[in-house]
Amino acid sequence: MEKKKVVVVGGGIAGIQASLDLADRGFEVHLVEKSPSIGGHMAQLDKTFPTNDCSMCILSPKMISCADHDNIVLHTYSELEAVEGAAPSFKVAIREKARYIDVDRCTACGDCVAKCPVKVPSEFEEGLTIRKAIYIPFPQAVPMKMTIDKDQCRKLTEDKCGVCKKVCQAEAVDYEQEDDIIELDAAAIVVANGFDMMDASTMPQYGFGVCKDVVTSLQLERILSASGPTSGHLQRPSDGNEPKKLGFVQCVGSRDTRTHSYCSSVCCMYATKEAILAREHAPDVQITIFYMDMRATGKGFQEFVSRAKDSYDVRYVRTRPAMIQSANGESGVLMSYETRGLAGEPVTEELDLLVLCPALVPAKDNYSLTKILGTELDADGFFVTPKLAYPTDTTVYGVLVCGFASGPIDIPDSVSQASAVAARAAEIIEGGRA
Ligand SMILES: Cc1cc2nc3c(=O)[nH]c(=O)nc-3n(C[C@H](O)[C@H](O)[C@H](O)COP(=O)(O)OP(=O)(O)OC[C@H]3O[C@@H](n4cnc5c(N)ncnc54)[C@H](O)[C@@H]3O)c2cc1C
Ligand code: SF4
Ligand code: SF4
Repeated sequence: MEKKKVVVVGGGIAGIQASLDLADRGFEVHLVEKSPSIGGHMAQLDKTFPTNDCSMCILSPKMISCADHDNIVLHTYSELEAVEGAAPSFKVAIREKARYIDVDRCTACGDCVAKCPVKVPSEFEEGLTIRKAIYIPFPQAVPMKMTIDKDQCRKLTEDKCGVCKKVCQAEAVDYEQEDDIIELDAAAIVVANGFDMMDASTMPQYGFGVCKDVVTSLQLERILSASGPTSGHLQRPSDGNEPKKLGFVQCVGSRDTRTHSYCSSVCCMYATKEAILAREHAPDVQITIFYMDMRATGKGFQEFVSRAKDSYDVRYVRTRPAMIQSANGESGVLMSYETRGLAGEPVTEELDLLVLCPALVPAKDNYSLTKILGTELDADGFFVTPKLAYPTDTTVYGVLVCGFASGPIDIPDSVSQASAVAARAAEIIEGGRA
């Protein structure tokens, strides 16, 4: 009997877990990921709260299982093009974008990367280092195949260069490659396209993009990662020195009616995690977390905060910064804030490195995806889940949602939701309750 198909949109931890569970149940899963590799944001993280387990040690085996599973077809560098019909017989079109690489030939030898003259900021390293126009986004990428960035490649933009094709002994480079459209019938669709981080430079009072030593929390994840741009050494961008005073600012654009009024949910805990890790990497550094309210509501979370205070000497200051600017020209940061609960005295503090925790916002494709799927978004831009009894259902029967696409959520809850989605999809496809 032909296997029923399920399309999963987004290859972060939520989409990966949903795909594995669905595939184990015997469905043929088509996992559609828009970037060149599956993995999502979890691949960028050093460790995960509240246990501080190595992020890649958990994620990487799941990524490999996805690639190896007989019931999973990976469509990386791909997007949902069109959807027609209704559950359990959606007609789905997937656009597989041209990589300009024959993936059956590419051995990931890297000869092309060494010769490519074009350098652009690496998205995976949050702009802290560069990649080439021909690239694999990170060392554990799945699939481990090159992609040519058509907007940066000199051959594809100016008909110059062509070096990668000359050096590729496997004859894998193909500048003539075109997008492919794959059409299939799907019994259910799972949305798992995650989140984006708010551009912190849109709130100039926080100094991001102006002060060299103001970075985002995702940038600090990369700085703390052994595979990151500083090989895990805590260094500030301006001069590469180890900071002596490190600060975190919570709720940058979250819980702020001018920007995003909701709580991004994970920042209090990941800032605490990053503070502990920073202290482990640089035992002399003094760390302060400047916060509005400490939201430590999950299992073991309050204990995690207490551990940061008691065992790692992390200082928590309840405040809202008024102004952040460069300390002395190039390096350091001056932060002005009022201390709440005390006399409300204004304080100006000098820090060597300041980490912003910006709002985590709906993925930018949510609106176009909604147009394709017929689903609805809530006022914040996340997918509406209207049924209390079926919390992974969207407003379209047979279109399910899990992970950050449904609203702010951490990794363990994303995994639980993903498994719930697989069970709910099976119920819908195999004739369960409506
Ligand atoms: C700095 C930082 C630190 C964190 N630390 C922790 C931690 O320690 N512990 C913890 O539990 N949580 C942590 N989190 C939260 C964690 O990152 C999220 O809970 C988790 O990544 C959610 O997974 P997801 O699969 O829903 O989304 P994502 O990880 O965002 O994955 C979504 C995927 O969908 C793809 N995609 C997007 N749009 C489309 C489209 N239109 N078509 C196809 N594919 C698409 C994306 O490329 C991506 O691969 C942290 C978050 C941040 C910002
Ligand atoms: S495209 Fe060719 S040169 Fe580049 S990694 Fe693949 S096989 Fe090697
Ligand atoms: S052809 Fe494009 S991708 Fe290849 S080496 Fe030149 S610039 Fe880089």
